[in-house]
Amino acid sequence: MDYVKLINCMRCGMCLPTCPTYKETFLETASPRGRVALIRKLQEGELDQSERLLEYLSLCLDCQACATACPSGVNAGELVAEFTCERKSQSGLSFMEDLILRKLVPHPDHLETSMVPMRIYQRTGLQKLVRNLGVLKMFPKPLGRMEGLLPPLPAKPLRQEILEITPAVGRERGTVGFFLGCVMSLIFSDASRATIKLLSSLGYRVITPRNQVCCGAPNMLGGDLDGMKEAARTNIDIFAGYELDFIVTDCGGCGAELKKYGHHLQGSDAAEAFSTKVRDISQILALHADDLMKLLKPLPIKVTYHDPCHIAHCQGIRQEPRDLLKLIPGVEYKELESADACCGSAGTYNISKPEMSDRILQRKLDTVRASGAELLVTSNPGCLLQLKKGLADHLPDVKIMHLTEILAQSMDS
Ligand code: SF4
Ligand code: SF4
Repeated sequence: MDYVKLINCMRCGMCLPTCPTYKETFLETASPRGRVALIRKLQEGELDQSERLLEYLSLCLDCQACATACPSGVNAGELVAEFTCERKSQSGLSFMEDLILRKLVPHPDHLETSMVPMRIYQRTGLQKLVRNLGVLKMFPKPLGRMEGLLPPLPAKPLRQEILEITPAVGRERGTVGFFLGCVMSLIFSDASRATIKLLSSLGYRVITPRNQVCCGAPNMLGGDLDGMKEAARTNIDIFAGYELDFIVTDCGGCGAELKKYGHHLQGSDAAEAFSTKVRDISQILALHADDLMKLLKPLPIKVTYHDPCHIAHCQGIRQEPRDLLKLIPGVEYKELESADACCGSAGTYNISKPEMSDRILQRKLDTVRASGAELLVTSNPGCLLQLKKGLADHLPDVKIMHLTEILAQSMDS
């Protein structure tokens, strides 16, 4: 770990009010400044890796709100992630981690097969029966939470249905590669279908390489840096086989990770070239706002927008999604208070740290209620899962959609 990044913290405390775990606990050890200090003391050999200390570090959501607030360029979330990777490289992956991060996640076929039992469970009525009988209470709590978070799965993963080449509608203005995120393909396939439709309607030929693999974010989250680099190399090679103007994604988490390939594979020109081409879908659509506006039809609805951490804090994209929503005729846009505060999803955080995740989610739901919006829009699958469940439980009148879904709906209405 780069020691300089640790000593850059001047302990000003400007990050504290932005940190979700500090706001919930008011504990210095659960704040960005505290986490940087803990890692520094560990590096300097003044502290041992006690269970309690590791617990404080693992409470970090890696939302990177602290990095946005820090005047010294310190990124506590990233430092915690780097620290976790270093620990894992010394201790090695557990059997379960190896199974998930190396045998499942990097292989789309395996990942898709692993979801078949869940699809059967949902579609045969077994889920309804299990829920009515309360059977899930007999299983470990994380299993019940996972089951509760998962919305109805599409009949097929999008990867199995999508054309490798979707032609441009009308005059072709360029070619983009579409990075289809695993969760988007498996769960939110309608949103990615909408993304491709928007791109082709705006004159882009869309290439979706079928052999692309997971972006590597789950590996990074699990401290598996080598697995993450392997994913990066595979995707770089695959996309290098096409002449592309941009590589587009509609998954905030994937976009943030793809843009870091150049950083992770330092010295690789191919990785740098790949990352330079990556764009979030909102960036591409905003480039063609005038043309897009001509395609949109009225949708009279009150809409608000939740900034995914991986889009606002990690990629610095805030204005484009809002501008795009305001293009839809009839939309009454309501700004959300603390729109860029984490929703508590954070990868598998909502499973591994349920209590803290629920507290953070509750704050978000309170702001959605106060906004008076009928529709909450966001653009990251983790946020969609977390907020969909939260809204269903506490604000059933408020719907949730991915940004491209509402734009495509306006186009079709
Ligand atoms: S991490 Fe940045 S904002 Fe937070 S205390 Fe250190 S210097 Fe200040
Ligand atoms: S990444 Fe988020 S949770 Fe972690 S220290 Fe920074 S603000 Fe707090």
